[in-house]
Amino acid sequence: MKCHSALGALILFSCALPSQGGEFDAEHRKMVDEVLADTVATAAYTGSSALSPQVVAAMEKVERHRFVPPGLVALAYLNRPLPIGYGQTISQPYIVALMTDLMKLKPGGKVLEIGTGSGYQAAVLAELAGLVYSIEIIEPLGKQAGERLQTLGYRNVKTKVGDGYYGWPEAAPFDAIMVTAAASHVPPPLIKQLKPGGRMVIPLGSQFMTQTLMLVEKHRDGSVTNRQILPVAFVPLTGGH
Ligand code: SAM
Repeated sequence: MKCHSALGALILFSCALPSQGGEFDAEHRKMVDEVLADTVATAAYTGSSALSPQVVAAMEKVERHRFVPPGLVALAYLNRPLPIGYGQTISQPYIVALMTDLMKLKPGGKVLEIGTGSGYQAAVLAELAGLVYSIEIIEPLGKQAGERLQTLGYRNVKTKVGDGYYGWPEAAPFDAIMVTAAASHVPPPLIKQLKPGGRMVIPLGSQFMTQTLMLVEKHRDGSVTNRQILPVAFVPLTGGH
């Protein structure tokens, strides 16, 4: 199964309920420390050896064991992607942190995520943004993630089932957009739905090869520039587009 990874030898393979503290605290701490270590190790690619304190705080707060299938709870704090059913994955924590950091979210901002999956990335975004919209194409996954986020108290996340290639025009424009599945190109509807001054993070490339995580910036004058960030491996963006 394909999942997020990067970098050959390194192989990167206040809104919600408060943490109760307990059995996973040590593993959670270790996971965040590994994310910070990967951030340093990949600085030559990403241009940054540190995450923003807000992103670190979100990674410390959101409990990943609440987003994995019951049989994988013991593995929830490994810095690795894990299967969530339907051939899909919950992303590697380092990649979640990196993609979140690249978006440079501001409090109160409006964000669109394509690929809700387990809802974990949406929860991390919800700690930093005012409102998160997230679209999942696989109905059972989308419904389950929506219910999970509600149960966990994320009132600032709206989810829907559909093809994220077309974005969420009724809620546009967005300050930032994150695509968590690999696309062959940047979907034009998503560029359109990005605010001037906004940022999009998206893996580009074929599902059978290493892809490239891209930072797409839409400037105040409407022009768009792309920057390559890191080699990655994501599940493909599907749908009829
Ligand atoms: N962000 C997720 C999380 O935190 O668990 C992980 C995302 S997983 C790597 C990619 C997800 O994108 C899968 O759940 C997949 O079904 C979904 N997906 C693929 N193509 C899509 C599309 N066109 N629109 C919406 N979701 C899509």
